[in-house]
Amino acid sequence: MGAKEQMIEILRDRDTARIRFEYRSDGKNATINQDCFTRVADNLQSGHLSVVEGRHRVNMVTYSSWAYRDDAANTFYLGNNLRWSRDFNALIVHEAVHAYFDVTRTNMPWLHNETIAYIAQGYYLRNSGFPLARLEEDEPHELGYRAAREYASGSGNTEWIQSLQDKLRNDARYSSYIRNPYTGDG
Ligand SMILES: [Zn+2]
Repeated sequence: MGAKEQMIEILRDRDTARIRFEYRSDGKNATINQDCFTRVADNLQSGHLSVVEGRHRVNMVTYSSWAYRDDAANTFYLGNNLRWSRDFNALIVHEAVHAYFDVTRTNMPWLHNETIAYIAQGYYLRNSGFPLARLEEDEPHELGYRAAREYASGSGNTEWIQSLQDKLRNDARYSSYIRNPYTGDG
């Protein structure tokens, strides 16, 4: 199976379909559910979104909304990934959130864009039965998992969302863009 076909399957699988939350923070709202991931899968299938393999040397996936330096618009870039793992599936879910905001031309500042993507990534890990204890503590996807658990339990406790936002604001890996605006261009 090619990477693109596999990504379409991941975005339509049952663990992705059970990701469901209403994000509200600082006046930014997003409804994340099965429809978001189906929409990205449809855009992959139609060819509006592309996939390039082997771009990164490490286990990462990125999504490029528009052409910038070596990146083409509307493209997922894969790396040296463990292609058949829940970890990989969750990474695809994360990047699909960015792609969703792009194809829906959504205004979603990077802080919120990343926060929502990490909650979705954590939500996938939770849904697939991935043990929280196997994630490195205080990493964004671990905090996203904890926030997802709060959403799934219906508690409305936003403490972990705050922790995740603080992490993203203060971690050097995100400093180059995390305070920037973002608006998808389709
Ligand atoms: Zn991201």
